[in-house]
Amino acid sequence: MAHRRLRRSARDAAAQLALEIYERIEKLHAELLRRRTKDAVPAEIDLRLRASVHSAERRQAAAAFAAQLTEQMEEEIAQRLAALSPLVPGHVYCFWCESARCEHAAPPHSRAVFAGYEPNGLPRWDEFASFCLAAKAPRVHQLHEEPPRPFTLFMHGNLLTKKQLAEFGAASTTFRILCQAVVGYFLLGGNDSARKTAVTIQAVETCAGRRAPVLALNIVGRTPSGGHLVDEVARMPDRRMAELFQKARSRIKDLGLRRTRPERERELASCIRHVAAGLEKIHRQESRRTKHARLRHLDPSRPAANALSDTARAGKGDFFNDRRRTTCIVLGPRGRTHVFNADGKHVTSMVAGGEDIERRLHTTQWVPMPDEQREALKARILGAKED
Ligand SMILES: [Zn+2]
Repeated sequence: MAHRRLRRSARDAAAQLALEIYERIEKLHAELLRRRTKDAVPAEIDLRLRASVHSAERRQAAAAFAAQLTEQMEEEIAQRLAALSPLVPGHVYCFWCESARCEHAAPPHSRAVFAGYEPNGLPRWDEFASFCLAAKAPRVHQLHEEPPRPFTLFMHGNLLTKKQLAEFGAASTTFRILCQAVVGYFLLGGNDSARKTAVTIQAVETCAGRRAPVLALNIVGRTPSGGHLVDEVARMPDRRMAELFQKARSRIKDLGLRRTRPERERELASCIRHVAAGLEKIHRQESRRTKHARLRHLDPSRPAANALSDTARAGKGDFFNDRRRTTCIVLGPRGRTHVFNADGKHVTSMVAGGEDIERRLHTTQWVPMPDEQREALKARILGAKED
């Protein structure tokens, strides 16, 4: 009897010690959490612990154990807070799901821009072209140029929450868009037909847990291959976009220190406009370069390959207006005949026989181009006017 009682009390003592370890773990977790957020919330913690006990170097073993335990718990907390964070680069906050990681939080494709919140707090994503039409953007006619010539629409944040109900985050401090610019279209990677991209650039203020509100630059956009633009930019060999974003990021970070709100908001707006203008510029140059490259890399036996060099060398008497088709003609050596539209965009090239050229001149289908128009067209074809 006595023997059994002894065993039971030993078991009780062991259970009691294990319970104490549980309580200690809970306390440790609460302590680590307390530094970063408001309340302790239920959590599942996976612990893999290795303890050397009764060893000769007991003190070191205990320190190693403690470090291991704290590290694992901090890791769990960091992961959980990241999942709760209202600021996930490349995403907006979805007030319906109360998450920046749900399926609504990022644009569905490369041409989509953030168009504001629905009454229920769901983010709305619009095709850039539809968004511009709805906003009656003055440069909307440029949307269909080939290659596209990007332009920007800028707006203050209150326009984006106009329809949103207070119950679904309209006045929330968790995630506030102070202002944004949408820029489109430009061509980015992938096949020509599917390269159209638009992007939303935001200045946001987020507030998580008990931490002070923070200002951040948020670049929201998908690449044509479906990745997040903000991630892909870091991997692009062309560093211009990455540098543009990096500069704006540090400028906004420094702004957090400024005192007055109007001054801060003015600065933020100017910063967002600056990023948008920078993107426009990078991609305007890009378009011109790809246009040149496209022509230059054509089969040299085909006349189109010479369209630019022939235009550069063409003399006064080599420029004509085609009256039937409202196109412009540039004659090169060996009967090479290049056709451009009035904007200087290359339409086609052919090799025409001398008789063919004579015939068109004779029938006055082609009329010599006036000096002023010729110089303007030449500049447009060679891209000098595109900057
Ligand atoms: Zn959602």
